[in-house]
Amino acid sequence: MFGIGTKNIGIDLGTANTIVYVDGKGIVLREPSVVAKNSKTGEIVSVGEDARAMIGRTPASIVAIRPMKDGVIADYDTTVAMMKYYIQKTLGSSNGKPYVMVCVPSGATEVEKRAVIDATRVAGARDAYVLEEPFAAAIGAGLPVMDPTGSMVVDIGGGTTDVATISLGGIVSSRSIRMAGDKLDEAIVAYVRQHFNLLIGERTAEQLKWDIGSASKSAVSADDVSSIRGRDLITGLPKTIDVSAVDIAEAIHESVEEIITAVKETLEETSPEIAADVIDHGIVLTGGGALLHNLPDVIADATKVPVFIANDPLDCVAIGTGESLKSIDVMKKK
Ligand code: ADP
Ligand code: MG
Repeated sequence: MFGIGTKNIGIDLGTANTIVYVDGKGIVLREPSVVAKNSKTGEIVSVGEDARAMIGRTPASIVAIRPMKDGVIADYDTTVAMMKYYIQKTLGSSNGKPYVMVCVPSGATEVEKRAVIDATRVAGARDAYVLEEPFAAAIGAGLPVMDPTGSMVVDIGGGTTDVATISLGGIVSSRSIRMAGDKLDEAIVAYVRQHFNLLIGERTAEQLKWDIGSASKSAVSADDVSSIRGRDLITGLPKTIDVSAVDIAEAIHESVEEIITAVKETLEETSPEIAADVIDHGIVLTGGGALLHNLPDVIADATKVPVFIANDPLDCVAIGTGESLKSIDVMKKK
C-alpha cells in the first residue's frame, strides 16, 4: 500500500521489554529494553538480550542502560539508538521507511508523547503515531473494546501498572501507578539485605520473583525454597543461602497491596453500568506482572470480581498495537 517492501509496524516500547509487530506477520521480535554502551565513547556495544546479560556485570568501560523508565523515555538518545536497531533488525534490507504505531502509558503527558513520536521518527519511521497502552492491551487481550459494554484491563509491566475501564472504543477511566515489576524486584533486594545480610543483584531478585514469588502469603509454603547467591554484607564474601516462598511473599506484600488498591480505586470511580459490566465479564490482567503466582486470586478476593490472565500476557500490548495499525490510514487522513 505504501510501496513494495514497506510494512507498517507496531512497537510496544516497554520499560522492561520491547516487542515489535509487523503488519501481516505478527510479532517478529521480543527483546529486553536494554542497551550496553561504551562509557567513554558512547558507542553501542550491544542491544537487547545480550545487553541485559551485562546488567550488574559491566566493567568500568561499559554501562548497561535501560533507557525507558516508568513507561516513558528517560534517556532519549539511547532510546533512539535502541529503536533504530530494532526497526532495522525487523525490516532488514527492505527499502522504504515504515509507518510506526507506538504505545504510551495512559498517564503520559503531551511532552512525553511528543518525545516518543520524535524518537520513532529519528529512529527511521516515515511517520509515527501513539496509542494508549491500556487500550492496546485490551485489544490484545481480546476484549470487546468497541462494544457498548465496559471492560477492565490491568496491565502490570516493569515500570507501571495501568488500570483502565474501556467502552465504545475509548478509555472511560484510568489510573497509572509507578508500582510494577521493577519495584517488586527492588523490594526483594531490600528484604534479603535486611533479613539475611546478603546483597543480591536485581536479576537474581527478578529470578526469585519468577520462580517462587507469590501475591499471597497464605498460598505458599516455607518448604518451597530457592538457593541464591550474593555478597555477605558482614564478611564481604560471596555466599549462598536458601530463601523461601514465604520470605519472598513477605518482601513484596506491600507493593502488591498498592497494585490491588489501584484496581479497587479505579473500580470505585467507575459508573454503575460499567461496574456491572466488569462484574459480568471480569477483570483481565496483562503484562509480565500478570504472571506473578496467585495474583488473580488476591485481586478477585479484594474486589469480589472474577479475574483472568490474558493469553500471552506479555504480548497483549504489541498485538493490540499491531491490530491498530489498520487505523493509521484513517489517522493520516485527519
Ligand atoms: P513492560 O511493558 O514494562 O516492558 P512487561 O509487560 O514486558 O513490561 O513485563 C515485564 C515485567 O514482568 C518484569 O518486571 C518481569 O519481571 C515481570 N515478569 C515476567 N514474567 C514474570 C513471572 N513469571 N512472574 C512475575 N513477574 C514476571
Ligand atoms: Mg507494557
